[in-house]
Amino acid sequence: MIDKRPHDGLVVLVGAGPGRAGLISRTGARWLARADCVVYDRLVNQDLLKACPDQAELIHVGKGPRGQAASQERINRLLIEHCRAGRTVVRLKGGDPYTFGRGGEEALALAEAGCAFRVVPGVTAATAAAAYAGIPLTDRRWASSVTFVTGHEDPAKGKSCLDYSALAKLDTLVFYMGVGNVPDITRRLIKAGRGGRTPAAVVANASLPNQRTIVATLDTIAEAIDKADIQPPALIIVGKAATMASRLNWFERLPLFGRAILVTRARRQGCELAEPLRELGAEVIEAPTICIEPADSFGEMDAALRCLGKYDWLALTSVNAVGALFDRLDELGLDARALAGVKLACIGPATADALRRRGLRADLVPETFTSEALAEALVSAGVGAGTEALLARADIATPQLPDALTNAGAAVTQLSVYRTALPEHLPPDALTALREGQADWITFTSASTVENFLTLTAAAGVGTGNAKLAAIGPVTAEALAGHDLAASVVAETQTIEGLIDAVVAAEAARKPKGPTA
Ligand code: SAH
Repeated sequence: MIDKRPHDGLVVLVGAGPGRAGLISRTGARWLARADCVVYDRLVNQDLLKACPDQAELIHVGKGPRGQAASQERINRLLIEHCRAGRTVVRLKGGDPYTFGRGGEEALALAEAGCAFRVVPGVTAATAAAAYAGIPLTDRRWASSVTFVTGHEDPAKGKSCLDYSALAKLDTLVFYMGVGNVPDITRRLIKAGRGGRTPAAVVANASLPNQRTIVATLDTIAEAIDKADIQPPALIIVGKAATMASRLNWFERLPLFGRAILVTRARRQGCELAEPLRELGAEVIEAPTICIEPADSFGEMDAALRCLGKYDWLALTSVNAVGALFDRLDELGLDARALAGVKLACIGPATADALRRRGLRADLVPETFTSEALAEALVSAGVGAGTEALLARADIATPQLPDALTNAGAAVTQLSVYRTALPEHLPPDALTALREGQADWITFTSASTVENFLTLTAAAGVGTGNAKLAAIGPVTAEALAGHDLAASVVAETQTIEGLIDAVVAAEAARKPKGPTA
């Protein structure tokens, strides 16, 4: 489908989907990854912009803090100008471009200007709200049609084009942009003959951690929205479908739904923890406190990598160590075969998985995932007098592992295969969340995340507020204690899964939040 000639400009109207970033299509994501320029709206999930090339120009045309938005004419002009400059322009729009998105106006302007364009459909808010709030829009037993209606007509039109007597006879109705006009919408529907007791729901922020669903009736929905202070973006869904939310709203019942969790991992690893937390319904605020940098010098490392065959065991103590080791092997023109004959030990399952992705199986993973346990397991496996062990670790690794193996009589070579560094500062949204006390939890996956986090927050003049602290293991909990901070939970198994389980267990005691029926 990518059939443009190299120097021709092209505009791609991409539906970003509503709410969560994962709802964009693969085609849409592929275009974003190759955009020279992205023109995006306010309701587009900002996480999607991370997928753009670093050099891509990002242009926000949605409403700003004072409510002013770029006019449609200005947007059309922008698209045409960038296209004529020979660029690949992604026009990223919330939901689906041709569903109440003015995508039609933009495409027409492009067609008239002779600009090449493509359109990538997106999940529209109605179908996302249906899925995430548990409101099947059609059902062969009681809803043979679904109608998408605007709740806010173009004021320039003067009078409404909507035929409420026709709408009142249809099965499921979904009103977009209607929260402000609910009293008017319900009054007109009832006047046109729809019963006041017809079920009606409002779904706000569909698919996001702050999603809210309220089910009422045509008679009562306006008051319910007012009372619950529901703000846009929201949809009003009218018809029997709305009643299904009480049984099918799985999303707002997820174990971490409504919880904001600040994740303090290294930037390259953040998603390992962030993604599963999101799947459990949490709002994840990423606060990288460590950046992984290449080692300062490679002399020792290269010497060891060139004669790997002389070692009996290679011990890897993190996923980053595996990455750094293979990056360096590659630089040296070597590959996994250089490890033939060397037994491989990993500190835990994530490190073993990283090896496996490179086609190698770990010979040893201790039952608990600490340096002490790894040392013990290695000694039991025969590491001692007459054996050579190579340790690939971070520059700041603790001495327990090499000390224990040296004491057992082994010849130990330690390699710092990567360096951990302190980022310049925490991201602004993480600082805001801390300053305003929005974070319910802060997770720590190593003692160094604790130290760096506290250095970065002290520099910014913020604290942990009322957030509960979750530590991956006792060493991390001790690091917190060293600053007079108590971990509310400490993972039983020292893995990311163990940490997530501990937070979920702590939250389980809380009353699950369900949709308000
Ligand atoms: N093109 C978009 C709609 C744009 S109009 C689409 O296909 O979804 C904007 C309206 O969409 C909002 O006023 C609201 O009614 C709805 N909307 C967008 N995102 C939403 C969300 N996450 N939850 C509920 N409604 C949403």
